[in-house]
Formats: sequence, structure tokens, C-alpha cells
Amino acid sequence: MAAPVRLSFLGGLGEIGRNCAAVEVDGRIMLIDCGLMFPDSDTAGVDLVLPDFTYLRENAHRVDGVVATHGHEDHIGALSYLLEEMPLTIIGSPLTIGLAKNRIGERGVMGQASFIEVSDNDRIDVGPFDMEFFPVTHSVPHGFATAFHTPQGVILHSGDFKLDMTPVDSRLTDLAGLGHLAKDDGVRLFLCDSTNAEEAGFSASETSIGQSIQDLFRARDGRRIIIACFASHIHRVQQIADAAIATGRTIATLGRSMNNNVGLARQMGLLRIPDAKLRDIEDVEDVPDGELCVISTGSQGEPLSALARMASGDSKWLSIREGDCVILSSHPIPGNEMGVTRVIDGLVRRGAEVVHSAIARVHATGHAKAEELRVMHSIVQPEWFIPVHGEYRHMAEHARLATRMGLAADRVMICSDGDSVLLTDDGLKRTDDIPAEYIHIAGSVGALDENVLLERRILGQDGFVSVIVPLSIVGPTAELIREPEVISRGWVDGPEGDELRKEATLAVREAVEDALASGKRSRLDFERAARRALGRFINKRTRLRPMVVPVVLGAHEGPDEDSRS
Ligand SMILES: [Zn+2]
Ligand SMILES: [Zn+2]
Repeated sequence: MAAPVRLSFLGGLGEIGRNCAAVEVDGRIMLIDCGLMFPDSDTAGVDLVLPDFTYLRENAHRVDGVVATHGHEDHIGALSYLLEEMPLTIIGSPLTIGLAKNRIGERGVMGQASFIEVSDNDRIDVGPFDMEFFPVTHSVPHGFATAFHTPQGVILHSGDFKLDMTPVDSRLTDLAGLGHLAKDDGVRLFLCDSTNAEEAGFSASETSIGQSIQDLFRARDGRRIIIACFASHIHRVQQIADAAIATGRTIATLGRSMNNNVGLARQMGLLRIPDAKLRDIEDVEDVPDGELCVISTGSQGEPLSALARMASGDSKWLSIREGDCVILSSHPIPGNEMGVTRVIDGLVRRGAEVVHSAIARVHATGHAKAEELRVMHSIVQPEWFIPVHGEYRHMAEHARLATRMGLAADRVMICSDGDSVLLTDDGLKRTDDIPAEYIHIAGSVGALDENVLLERRILGQDGFVSVIVPLSIVGPTAELIREPEVISRGWVDGPEGDELRKEATLAVREAVEDALASGKRSRLDFERAARRALGRFINKRTRLRPMVVPVVLGAHEGPDEDSRS
């Protein structure tokens, strides 16, 4: 009997983002990715969402490291947060590690990290983990599919991938290598990207976008071009730069991550832009309109990005004017549509022509569509299959796709965040769950708990009403020394608000006087009486449920009068 191998999902199953899974062999743990998720617009004030690290925290002494499959934030963005809690060895391609180092350095936890750079088709051992790395094409260069050779056979993780047959760097998804793996070793368990399982057909090649961008540039002779894309999409940046140079333009980059990533990729030889073709963003107003191309961040409509600032007219570097052409070389990630719409609107108001993916072929997805997934399944021929990286509907469609190709339905397992499975001689079965809450991060205060989020929701919806109750309690004498005072924010305003506040004062006064008369003396008693009276009044008169905060002055904290023994 070979030792069982456990696999647990900390994130990425049921959402696009915060990808993180734990493989356990011989009592040791290796993570596959450690990414973050950007919150949707109704999570007020939350900057990002992390995987739940509870299980890793409890087993920190067993964690060996993380395989970073590629350099996207939803795969490497939470590494710096986990490094604050435990040292880690991070394994990935040099570019993935370079991108991860930028983030880790920013949070000052480089001392906790060690790195192992691996090249295409390397096979390495780290502790009990025997891992092999296969090149895949995606929207950031040098991504990997990872094969874990375990006592229970091969577990293959696809990473994020597409089957681009004409990639910009000619580095193809290694279908031949994966075929060998499937034939020679057999794939016991396959974990595969589900993002585009609902999309029919094949994805467009990245190089086909380059031609279309060049055509757009040619047709806008004599005009300034500002083009936004993901800063990690080095191949897109390359094609934009090529189009710019071919049409006689010099290039300026704008936005911190764009500047960082272009610098890193040029240094690593992954991006070829001659020095002479690059301009500092400070000098762009000196460049004739028809000779300028600015490559910017902000293609997802992020409110503080370089492009959003241009749209709202407060960019330090560039003011949009009549005749400018702005290209969004991207597709909005679900949840970002509103932000993108706002940015487009702002740019058009300022006189720009805006070209986006609904108007022209300026973007190709980085994720395999249904036909590509079928090719992958036909090559990998797994014994067991778990769809990963997707919302539930994407994973469910991916599961259907696999069964339609002949995999028995009981060999496909749809899992969710927090699920754990065990691979044994008898096959794959579910085992104990692990914690997998959403961990919300805001500012530098760390994780926000559910109460804070709930309070923010209440404040955002119906506002805030407070009442100040000034008491004097001296010996046996207790009295209200002034009228209670009702203060509100974001509730009801104007004369109507004044009237309501006056009436609310009376309701609270009555309740407090009743409490005094019945011998109540502790602050908690008066807070309760005031909150109840005010809450009832507000609900009755306005049908709103603002946050109600009583502030009682002059009474001592203490046990309730009723419960004093
Ligand atoms: Zn991803
Ligand atoms: Zn990705």
C-alpha cells in the first residue's frame, strides 16, 4: 500500500482569484500558488481578499514551500502575507520569481523568503516533493503546468493556460511533454483551469492581436495614442511597442507596475524595446502628437490607476484632449465592468476616441476555451479529475465537458474552497474540510472581521444615529441633567430631519426616565433603554435601519440592576 496523498483547497474554487492549494506527501506540505482576489464593489473599503491561512498556520512546521505557477496576482499576490507568518521557499520561473520579489520586497518580508528558479521541463526534489515543470502559454510569459510525482502517482496541475500555437515568444504549451507524461507515468489526478469552459471554440492567438493593434495605430496617423493593458502582460506590451515603432512612435510607460514590469522584463531579455525608442513620461508633452505612444496601467478601470486619473482630468503627466485615441487592450474582469464604463465615459467627455474589446480585436484571453480544454483532456487522459480556477458554473461546465469526453461521472469531483481530498490506492475520496473564510484586508490594519464589514454595510445603506444621554448619579439620587441630544449622519436631513431628531429626543427621554424611576443605575441599563427606544422610534417613523449608538454620560459601568445579586 502506497502512502495516501492529501490535497486541500484554500481558495480559487468558486471564484476567480486567491488561488491556493496544499499538497501533502509524507506529512510535508507544498502549496500550489498563493494568490489574492480583488473585492467586488459592494465590499465597502476592502482592498483585497486573501485565502484563509488557518490550516497553514496550525501546520506551519510542516510547510516546505510554494510552487508559483505564473506571475499573476491571483497566484502570487498573497505570498507576502503568508511570509509574514512563516518562512517559505518559492519555486517558479525566473520571471515569476522576479514579479513575486517586487511584491514581497514592497511588504518588507524578503528575509523570510528563499527562491528556487526552475526552467522549462526541469524536474526537482524539495523534501518529499518530486516536481516537474511543463511550459504553458498564458497572458504572462513563462507559466508552468506542474506534475507532482507522488507515491500515489502523478498529480498534474495545468496552471492557467491556453493553447496558443503562435505565441509571441514561440514558447509553446508542451503538449508533447504532457503526452509523454500521460503515456509513461499515467496521470492519476488532473487539476485543470476552468475559467473559459463556457466559451465555445479556440481562443485567439496573442500574435493575431498584434496585427490588429498595428492596423489601429496606422489608421490614427498624426494623433496621440494612449493604450492600457495588464502590466504583467509582457507579450502584449511587446506587440504594442512593435506597433508603435513600426508607425514611427516613441514609447513612454505610465503607472508604477507598468514601469516596474517593463524594467524587469527588459532586464531579463524578455521584452525588446531599444533605449532610443523609450521616452520618460515627464517629456511626453514635447513629443509631436503623431510620434507618441503611452502604455499605461488601469485597463480594469481601477479608480486610482493612471488611466482613471486621465479620465477624471487629474493625471500629473498627461491631459487628454480632442483627437487623442485611447485603446483599452483588455477585457473587464467580472466585477470591474462599472469601473471600466466610468473610465471610458470620462475619456470620451474629454474628447478622446476610445477603442475597446467590444469595438475592435484589441484583446485575446489567456485561458483555454472549450476546444482547447478538450485537446488537453484527450492528451492527459486522467484517472481522476477536479476542475479548478473558476466560479462554480465554470467548474461545473468543465466537469460536464470531461464526462462528455468519456470520463466516468464518479471520476470527476467538483470541489469548493475548504474541501480536502485524499488520493489512496482505492482512489480519490473526500476527507475533513479545512477553514476557508474570505480574509478581507484594508489599509494596513490587517484582516477585517465580519462585524466590521456588517457595520460598514449598515452605515452605507441607512446611516448612523446617535443619542447622548447626560446623567448625574450621586449616591441614591439619579437624574437626567440635560435633554438627551440626537445626532445623525447619512440618515434624514433638512427640516424633516430636525423634526425627527426632536421627536426622537422625547422618546429617549421617556425611556431613560422610566429606567431611572425603576431604580436602574448602571450604564449598560441606560444604553439598552436608549437604544431600544431610539431604534423603535426610527423604525416606526422612517422604516430605515441605521446604526444606533447610545452614549450615556455620568453612569458607572456595572452589571445590570436586574442581575445584581
Ligand atoms: Zn489565474
Ligand atoms: Zn493567470
